[in-house]
Amino acid sequence: MAPASPKIVDYQQHLPRSFKKRLRKSNRYIVLHSTESGLRSALRTLSRRGHSNYLVARNGTIYRILDKKYRSHHAGLSMWNGLRDISSHSIGIELVGYHNDPFTASQYESLKWLIEVLQRVYKIPDRHVLEHYRVAYGRPNRWVKRLHRGRKKDPGVFNFSRARAGLTSEDPRNSILYDPDVRAGRLIPDPDIDIARVRLVDRGRYDIEVAQLSENVITRRNTAWRIARGEYDDPMTVYRFPNGTVMRGNQIRNWDRIPVGTKVYLNRDRTEDVQAVTAAVPVIIQGTTAFDIAGTAYRRSDTYYIFPTGTIKSGRQVRHWNRIPPGTRVLVRYNAPVALNSAGRQAVRRDDTVFLVPRSEVLVAASVPDASRLAGGTLVFTRK
Ligand SMILES: [Zn+2]
Repeated sequence: MAPASPKIVDYQQHLPRSFKKRLRKSNRYIVLHSTESGLRSALRTLSRRGHSNYLVARNGTIYRILDKKYRSHHAGLSMWNGLRDISSHSIGIELVGYHNDPFTASQYESLKWLIEVLQRVYKIPDRHVLEHYRVAYGRPNRWVKRLHRGRKKDPGVFNFSRARAGLTSEDPRNSILYDPDVRAGRLIPDPDIDIARVRLVDRGRYDIEVAQLSENVITRRNTAWRIARGEYDDPMTVYRFPNGTVMRGNQIRNWDRIPVGTKVYLNRDRTEDVQAVTAAVPVIIQGTTAFDIAGTAYRRSDTYYIFPTGTIKSGRQVRHWNRIPPGTRVLVRYNAPVALNSAGRQAVRRDDTVFLVPRSEVLVAASVPDASRLAGGTLVFTRK
């Protein structure tokens, strides 16, 4: 029995009046993306310029951003099998989410349904349904000296499952390890694909390598390019240095001097987005998500959410991720809270210790001259 068709919302009325709809040159491919943002922000940015044909929300709802027959500018600088400008030859589908965070079961169900419909209409084989990271390529930069794969990471070498999207053809060209342009010497490979290969021979080493790359923190190996790829010097990429200084990618001149431990935040167009993550105690604002602040740690038991009402939940206890109210504070890698009078004196003095004063005021130790004077009932969170 065919599965019920998912809910489809026609969103085309949100395209600007000035947007010119034009037909594609061909319908050879489907390209899959992840938004690297939440639903609200994705709908806003994709409709602004018709940058996708479809968007699949975390609950499986499909938004039609631009009718399937029109060209949407979604692939950017791209090439597949020698053919360039893949946006002119493909339908673009975005998944709400991040390249390093699993998509939901509802998303895979809806995506599978949508891909099958489009495959029937346009006669597109599984091997021509391609992840954005596979078709994007980059010009030489300070880390990669030649034309290269790896300009994009979405929807995730280690994250997106072709099988769950119904792409199960056994044709060897249906594998993410297949790249006709690397094979022909037109491009050098994406380093993440080398790690994907490790999975076949050494699962333990693979898991360690993936874990090392999943944090958006600069290490000797996890460079600004490995994290942000083609957007490393983009104004929307924000760097927070260990000393607390914040810079946008386009403001950085000396890439050799980025200290280890610098945190990288992607997709930060507005000032509030930057303040949300760089505040002493990061806070969720309208349009940002828990993932934007905590990264892959957002669901962990040592990530704490302090709601504006004063309610505390760990990442394991939150059920409705799309209902976290703005103003919620996020503590990543903290110990469970204890009462002020049972917290050790040392712990209370550390700058990154956080106090939750009754009536839900949140204070960071660095700004509290004398913690012993805080109200009774104050809770203390210490960093792990
Ligand atoms: Zn993309």
